[in-house]
Amino acid sequence: MKSKLSSRIQTVEGSKTARFIPLLETLKRQGLPVISLAIGEPVFDTPVPVIDATKQALDRQETRYGDMAGLMALRIALAARFDGCGPENIVVCNGSKQALYTIFQSLCNPGDQVIIPVPCWVSFAEQVKLAGGEPVFVNTEDHQLDLKGIEAAVTAKTKAILINSPNNPTGAVYPRQDLERVARLAVDHDLVVIADEAYDFFVYDKLPYFSLYSLEVLRDRLIITRSFSKHYSMTGFRVGYAVAPPAVAAAMVRFQSHLTGNVCTFAQHGAVAAIGMDERLLARRREELQQKRDLAFDLVAAMFPCIRPQGAFYLFPDISAHLHRGETSADFAGRILEKTGVAIVPGDDFGMDGHVRICFAAPDDQLREAFKRIREVL
Ligand code: GLU
Repeated sequence: MKSKLSSRIQTVEGSKTARFIPLLETLKRQGLPVISLAIGEPVFDTPVPVIDATKQALDRQETRYGDMAGLMALRIALAARFDGCGPENIVVCNGSKQALYTIFQSLCNPGDQVIIPVPCWVSFAEQVKLAGGEPVFVNTEDHQLDLKGIEAAVTAKTKAILINSPNNPTGAVYPRQDLERVARLAVDHDLVVIADEAYDFFVYDKLPYFSLYSLEVLRDRLIITRSFSKHYSMTGFRVGYAVAPPAVAAAMVRFQSHLTGNVCTFAQHGAVAAIGMDERLLARRREELQQKRDLAFDLVAAMFPCIRPQGAFYLFPDISAHLHRGETSADFAGRILEKTGVAIVPGDDFGMDGHVRICFAAPDDQLREAFKRIREVL
């Protein structure tokens, strides 16, 4: 049957982060003392108000089909966060992963190019390819945008620039002036900007978060994706959303109506409760993550060169000095997993070899134990 698979699916690789979920379950079942710093998931429980609202929605039999664009109450609540937006600007999707997939399907004609700064999240390029588009990678400099490089990469085929800040896998937060330059570039060359803001809530050191939505000049060409997964520790609920000009949002809903239909109805009721939550609990969680960042950064920086991340929950150290002859970052991560039981993601998976991604949203004792084991092996 393999010969029957489409050439499209044969050129696409499975998610290199999501593959850790079954792999680590298998290793744990075998009784191995595994510590996962691989998958990007907050350490916290889903907040009680979210769980309660979801249970209550189930008790009320909120278990039927719903509006393909998302629950009206949820879209109204989300739109209120974006000046000038109404529910017609919001599309609720199965996580921001599906929002991004749907965006590329809705934007790309065959051969259209999407500029992606690297290193970058594992699904961007594959999703662009699945839409018939061509990812065009531009290196970053010390994890910050190379604006000249981005401008030089623009061609007649460029459809969009993808910006992910705070960044996965580096934790870099891009400063306002750089985002303003991206906006100018997009306006000058008539490009769409796609802003993956899944980690918007996780910015540390009292740094103000600057969303591209703040730039009015960009709004008619800007599509933002955000997620409940990280902000509210709801990864398994699969609720994310896009904020887009109405024509784009309507196209996405048309596409989604043939793909998933609505997002799980009772999960969306949980999301409505999440938006209504006392933000102080969430702010305390962010402070806790900042402490974890400090703990993990000190442990990592004692072993490898590493740029201190100001957002998200990843460290992206340069491990090249520890590579054996001919070894790649994938070999290195494999060696660490085999010898220590600590799972980390090779930088190669994000388009930058010689590095690894380490998720620090883990219990402190596990962080200490993981780095102790890694230090011993090195
Ligand atoms: N976004 C998270 C990560 O990068 C979750 C897994 C995935 O969907 O890629 O680890």
